Amino acid sequence: MKPSLKIILLTILIALTTISCSRRNASPLTEKIRRFVPVKITANVSKLPDNEKLVLRKLIEVAGYMDSIYLRQVWSGNIELLTELSNDQTTEGQERLHYFHINMSPWSGLDDNAPFIKGVPDKPEGANYYPEDMTKEEFSAWAAGLNDETMKKCATGFFHTIRRESEKKLIAVPYSDEYKTFLNPAANLLRDAASLTENPSLKKFLETRADAFLSNNYYESDVAWMELDSQLEPTIGPYEVYMDELFNYKAAFEAFITLRNDEETKKLEKFSSYLQEIENNLPIDSRYRNPKIGESAPIRVVDVIVTGGESRAGVQTAAFNLPNDEKVTAEKGSKRVMLKNVMEAKFNMVLIPIARKAINDNLFEHISFDPFFTHILAHELMHGLGPQNITVDGKRTTVRESLKEVHSAFEEAKADISGLFLLQHLIDKGEFEKSYEEQMYVTYLAGAFRSVRFGINESHGKGMALQFNYLLDEGAFIFDKQTAKFSIHTEKMREAVKKLTGEIMTIQAEGNYKKAKELIGRYATIRPEMQIILNTLTDIPTDIEPLYTSAK
Ligand code: ZN
Repeated sequence: MKPSLKIILLTILIALTTISCSRRNASPLTEKIRRFVPVKITANVSKLPDNEKLVLRKLIEVAGYMDSIYLRQVWSGNIELLTELSNDQTTEGQERLHYFHINMSPWSGLDDNAPFIKGVPDKPEGANYYPEDMTKEEFSAWAAGLNDETMKKCATGFFHTIRRESEKKLIAVPYSDEYKTFLNPAANLLRDAASLTENPSLKKFLETRADAFLSNNYYESDVAWMELDSQLEPTIGPYEVYMDELFNYKAAFEAFITLRNDEETKKLEKFSSYLQEIENNLPIDSRYRNPKIGESAPIRVVDVIVTGGESRAGVQTAAFNLPNDEKVTAEKGSKRVMLKNVMEAKFNMVLIPIARKAINDNLFEHISFDPFFTHILAHELMHGLGPQNITVDGKRTTVRESLKEVHSAFEEAKADISGLFLLQHLIDKGEFEKSYEEQMYVTYLAGAFRSVRFGINESHGKGMALQFNYLLDEGAFIFDKQTAKFSIHTEKMREAVKKLTGEIMTIQAEGNYKKAKELIGRYATIRPEMQIILNTLTDIPTDIEPLYTSAK
């Protein structure tokens, strides 16, 4: 088939936009640093009572200890290198130090962890959790040969490093021992903070976490963290296991010292009161609706005051689910924490510039952080609604099992699109001003480019591409050939949101793997119109470099 004129024009446009975006005259390291735009992050700490401000001071100090531990967890040579870099006063030297601080290591997270300092080896897969000369096989043979069940648990557990004894034999060392130089003073600070606060749930968390730093038993403090009900909401300790690329066993230390956002907490409460009504109105066959939805997982919206340890490294976390310990989550569930001021900084520094390139100028005034954030909340809530436990061919199963490898992209698309459905319902009910509708859809359109910007291999990007092209085919998103930008048709948007929500949820309710795969195959691609926009985004920062001014 001959290529249409439209495709030819699009190809020319793609070529032009690519050419116009190359940059000159900057060192490779400067280019790397530019991807993180510095931005002040503030939280309203002035509203805290005086004693809680003193608590905060102590917690900020604890966050500093998390830095010290984390730097040592990354690599055995990290501290020595940092000292060396700090002593180099040349411009290039200061630049290296700057990028080291962004990554908390000499490896660039955005570049597949390539080293950016001469003479530095490849990033050790097991970080500094294991001896660097240890192989996976050696570890597995050793762990399998341990007689004592408790020892076995320590070997593969979150909170023990693996070291070599005198005769090169492997041994598990508790974090409380390995990092005692830092954990002991950190525990003292937590105890001081606990004695200062008047909030019982915070006192409990701080005391039990101080105990955990010394005893290496984190269970009780994880439970206390789940039960936190306080203006100051700290998350401090060893948590994520991503850095252990050998086994994903060992937890890295980090800290998020945050302040609860009361306004958003109220908004969430309001949403929660509507959830059953939303479920009852889902655009699917009534037999697929859940007549009595369960209690949803707790969500906290907070503003970050300061972070420490792993949370400072690389791309900044905007939300997290903790704890990871399955014993705690089986009994207590987990909590989702959303970092509102970090999201807002990313919105201003990354999404707004994207919107300028992606959407027609006359729509730009509708771009707004509030609907962006509210839609993220709605997304999270909608994960808990719609079909989950289903019956296929008379057998009880789950959507996750039935849809296999396409499940996560499908579920992300569901949460996004039905999040819009939820908000539209609340707009129709008068809970939001009518003007919110256009803001929400335009902001969502701009956000789509942010999600697919770095590819569609990952679930969120893939799920977004699915929605985007579906809405394009429904005439809800429109590519304007004149401006080479996008606009929306609000009326059609409303209809298409309902239609796609219904289609996705019906496939989920039927556990129909074949149809799910078909839908993904048809829509989850990057089409030429989208590629035109993506090509214009190369100069827009990837992420932020946060400067926490409230902590000062
Ligand atoms: Zn999600």
